[in-house]
Amino acid sequence: MSGIKDSYQRTIDYLRVSITDRCNLRCVYCMPADGIMPMDHKDILSYEEIIRIVRIATGIGVKKVRITGGEPLARKNIIHLISEISNIDGIRDLSLTTNGILLSRYADKLVEAGLERINISLDSLRPDRFKEITRGGELNLVMKGIESAEKAGLTPIKINMVPIHGLNSDEIEDFAKLTLQLPYQIRFIEFMPFGTEGLWSPERFVSVEETKSIVERVGTLTPVKMKRSGPAIYFRFDSAPGVIGFISPISNHFCGECNRLRLTADGKLRPCLFSETEIDLKPALRGGAPDDELERLIKLSIEVKPKGHDIGSRFTELLSLMKSKECSRRPMSRIGG
Ligand code: SAM
Repeated sequence: MSGIKDSYQRTIDYLRVSITDRCNLRCVYCMPADGIMPMDHKDILSYEEIIRIVRIATGIGVKKVRITGGEPLARKNIIHLISEISNIDGIRDLSLTTNGILLSRYADKLVEAGLERINISLDSLRPDRFKEITRGGELNLVMKGIESAEKAGLTPIKINMVPIHGLNSDEIEDFAKLTLQLPYQIRFIEFMPFGTEGLWSPERFVSVEETKSIVERVGTLTPVKMKRSGPAIYFRFDSAPGVIGFISPISNHFCGECNRLRLTADGKLRPCLFSETEIDLKPALRGGAPDDELERLIKLSIEVKPKGHDIGSRFTELLSLMKSKECSRRPMSRIGG
């Protein structure tokens, strides 16, 4: 199956699957201190339901699947899910995004189950600050997780950092310098406006342009062409083993190349991260609908995928919206990052 086109001729072949809204960290920019009201367990899709949706989606052209959350490694029996998804015909690329806290426990088993790639989110290299940002997380566990992932063959190690002014933007150079010693992909991602009581503000926002100029204090960057680079643009310092990626969902959004759909843990297909439009698959899933009906709903969500978002030009409007009580934007932990 060569993939299905949306209304703007983009081929949609990538599904991000959030398997839980629960997380074992409480990152200050992602979640309120007391967490978010957790979804009711009965509302969260079972693994069998997720596997069925992925199977139907691959039937219409999805080839890439990324498992995310919440924290996906915090959901029980994750190895079973990975193994079942990796055995679905048509899956060419199966990956997972994690905060790394439980990674040392699972790295080998994930590889055995068929996981090919992993992204680790890490926003500070300083143990005290890491603890502050994550509200209690232990940096050494993430470091052990990274080591285990490398040993298990989940390479290249991709580390995602969200620079935020007043929080961690003074560590941009330190993250970039890691690539001088290690064959890692360090990817800087712009801070996006999510969550009702979030930390986001235009003053805290660090554009990719600014991040890149800070990285260039370390050395000259040369562009690198990468396979499967997705929305990241990659560079390398002279003879460095690692590379540096920049992802700019806000300042220079990549909607024209967007190939994604997102499935939330409670069964909603979200065609665009920045649009509240969602198509609920659960009534069909749990109401005994045949595969054809689920396929129709997946195709519908591809059909209604918007051309793009203009969030970068709406900072002020967004800020007042986020401060208002009516704001219903899900935080990333409830969409799946
Ligand atoms: N727990 C997993 C992890 O930490 O990677 C997966 C879920 S987490 C929500 C996925 C990613 O979303 C993390 O890399 C986190 O940094 C990112 N994220 C959360 N809120 C964000 C925001 N407002 N702007 C940019 N990235 C955000």
